[in-house]
Formats: sequence, structure tokens, C-alpha cells
Amino acid sequence: MLGVSDDRGYELVAEPDEAEVIVVNTCGFIGPAKEESIDAILRMASFKESGSCRKLVVAGCLSQRHPVELADEMPEVDHFLGSSDMLRLSEVLDRDDAARLLVGNPADWVQRASDPRRPSVSRHSAYLKIAEGCNRTCSFCIIPALRGLQRSRTIADLVAEAEQLVASGVVELNLVSQDTIAYGRDRDGDERLAGLVRALAEIPGLRWLRLHYLYPETITDELVELLDAHPRVLPYVDMPLQHASDAMLRRMRRGHGGARMRKLVERLRAKVRGLVFRSAFIVGHPGETDDDFAELCEFVRWAELDHVGVFRYSSEDGTASATMDDAVPPKVANARHRKLLALQRPIARAKNKALVGREIEVLVEGESDESDFVLEGRHAGQAPEIDGKVFLALGPDAPPASRGQIRRARVTAAADYDLVAELIDGPREAGEPSPPRRAIRRAGGVVRLRTVG
Ligand code: SF4
Repeated sequence: MLGVSDDRGYELVAEPDEAEVIVVNTCGFIGPAKEESIDAILRMASFKESGSCRKLVVAGCLSQRHPVELADEMPEVDHFLGSSDMLRLSEVLDRDDAARLLVGNPADWVQRASDPRRPSVSRHSAYLKIAEGCNRTCSFCIIPALRGLQRSRTIADLVAEAEQLVASGVVELNLVSQDTIAYGRDRDGDERLAGLVRALAEIPGLRWLRLHYLYPETITDELVELLDAHPRVLPYVDMPLQHASDAMLRRMRRGHGGARMRKLVERLRAKVRGLVFRSAFIVGHPGETDDDFAELCEFVRWAELDHVGVFRYSSEDGTASATMDDAVPPKVANARHRKLLALQRPIARAKNKALVGREIEVLVEGESDESDFVLEGRHAGQAPEIDGKVFLALGPDAPPASRGQIRRARVTAAADYDLVAELIDGPREAGEPSPPRRAIRRAGGVVRLRTVG
């Protein structure tokens, strides 16, 4: 949608009261994300009264999931775009008579390299969506119903998009999809994840390639070798494990038990040097007993993962879990959520403390949100938006830093999730002068794009 608005000559503004068009990109996956999305829509709707907004657009999974109900209940919204209709934002921008509901069938759609694109994370880091949809049947998950069966893009198309991104200054690519490890299995031929990673990693100018959302199944030797040894493939594994008790994994219809997960973790730790392991777990799924939760806690203590996300189960209409008995009371789920996060915190802190005094490579991302006098960035073990940050000071002999540079830095202090480091030598890569943090104005109208969920 950012690419479409660029294409139509619109500019991005920093404040919603300046925007002529406001797009709220929603999530409809779990209850809290839906609530957050609705709050954002209502907040943005107020700018039709108090600001310059003349078109309010709601896009993404929430409007895909409940188009008619939302249209009835939110007369202040001018247009609803489904989760696969982002390119139709051009109709909204170009025409005053565009339809109110622009919600197609997501199963028909997959992104292409020729689609207009502007990375949303930063100019130097981008997500690359390698497939749409999912063929699995996890009992708690509505995504296959929202996004359809898996459709993988071709390696040639993904390399073409990645080359465009790198040519525009991107140095870090983060591969995403609903089920990244299953990339290519829906297509004839032998295009699979390892081949894709190898092809992308060869793009001149790309420095970091990171994999997200690997389903917990055996990673091929070829991919393990790339994670271990390829200089541009980060040894970072983001594998949502969801639970560790056999009974819960069975209820969640994950197709494996806890023993397989232990084997997976052990194998990756043994084979991938410097492995950084991120995972996510659900607590409070129907049927989760105290013993199941104790088993999950024991697993988290044992696995000592680097980054852990914990979600409270959200009952979603249309899923198998929503029909299961033995619901866990919200109070119990909340307590388990707090306990698991508290259990992980000292593990994360100890891992960060072990880095103090060591040299790391950091992607410089610009002035810190905390203070204009401090820079911030991420090291290879920190994914954008979900992991911690590195706050950066200039060392005595270090030349000034620019956004998009990958620089060496020495870690001087560690908190639970973030690090403080001092830049210690010159640029590894040419960056660009750090632009002001305010959004850059360009010719045309005004768009305020806001991402939620
Ligand atoms: S693999 Fe992920 S997206 Fe697919 S059904 Fe399971 S949880 Fe949902």
C-alpha cells in the first residue's frame, strides 16, 4: 500500500491530522489484535472531524474477516480493503466513486515482484513474503481460513524483488510467510527453501538474510549448513513451538510431540554455530492442565532460548479449538502468561550479559527513539520490531555512523532485552547520511499509513 500510494503521487505525513487519506492496516488473527485494530480505526476516524482526512480506509485481515459487519457498524469508514486487495488502494486514491467494499478472495492472490513496493521497516531492512496461505490444520488458528492454501512464489520472482530492494538500499532481508519451511512444496518442481535461501544470499549488496516462522520439523542438512556457514545467512531461527506437552500439542493438532522439539533444538544447537533461537508459545489453550503448563515451564528452562514470545490463547470462531471443552479461566491463563515471561526474563538477561565486552556487528538504524543524542541499531541476533535493540555511542576513534551501515561495536552494558555498545571502527559498507526522523515530504497529496497488529 505504501508502494501504491507512492505510485499515485501521494506523500507520507507524520501526523494523522495532516492526512487527506488515512489507511488503517488491521490484524484479525486474535482477540487483542482485533481490539487494537478497532481502537485505531475509531481514533483515526476522529480526524475526519478534526483534521484534513477525507477518506478513511480499513485494510487487512479484520476487514477480510468481517467486511459486512464492520461496514454496518462503522459508517465513518469510507472503504474496506481485504487482506489481498492492497493494490486496489489505487482505486480509492484515484476515484471518488470507488466501491466501499473492496474485499476479494485471498486464495486467488499472491504478491509479485512487479507490484509497487516500499519497505515499511526502514530503508535498509525489508520483509520478503515468499508464500501466501498455509496447508496445516493447527486447531487454534484461523489463518488458513483467512488466507487459503499455500501458494509459493517462484525463486526467480523473489530474487527479482530482492534485487530491487537491495538496489534501493536494503541490506537486510527477513523472509516471511505463514509456513516458511514448507516453501515450494505446493508447486511442481524442486524449488525449496534451501535453494531459495542460497539464491537470495548470492545477491551482491545483501548483507543479512533472516528466516522467520519455521514450523517445527526437521530442517534439511542443506539449510542447516547455510545457517551455520553462509556469511550472509544469519544463524537465526524463528520457530514457533506453541507448547511442549504431548497432550497439548495433540490438542493443538501440531502433528508432533515434545520429544521432537527437544531433538530439533538439540540438533540446531549442535550444528549451527552462534545459533539465536526465537520461539513463541500459547498458554491457556483449552485443556491445558497445571501439569501441561509445568511441562512447558520445564521445557523453557531447559531450552534456554534467546527470544520468547508468550501469547494467551484467544478463542476464534471457525477454529477447532473454539469448540473444545475444558476452557482455561482467563485468570489462570493470565497468571501462566506472567509466569512464563518471568521465567524467560533471567535467561534473556544472562544471554545479553554474556555479550558485555564482546565485539558485535550492528546494523545502524538511526537516532534512537529514546534520545536524539543516541543512535540505535540491531545486531544479527535481533530481528526488526520483535527483538531488542542496541543503543550506540561513538567510540573515541570511530568515524560518524550513518543509517544502513553495518559497523563493529563493543558491548558495554546489557539489560533484559537491549544492549548498549560503542562503535569502534570505520564503516563496513557505505551508508547514507542520517535523515531527520520526521517523514519526508514529496510532491502530491497526503497519506497517513498506519500499521496495526
Ligand atoms: S502453521 Fe501457523 S499459520 Fe499454519 S495453521 Fe499452524 S499456526 Fe496457523
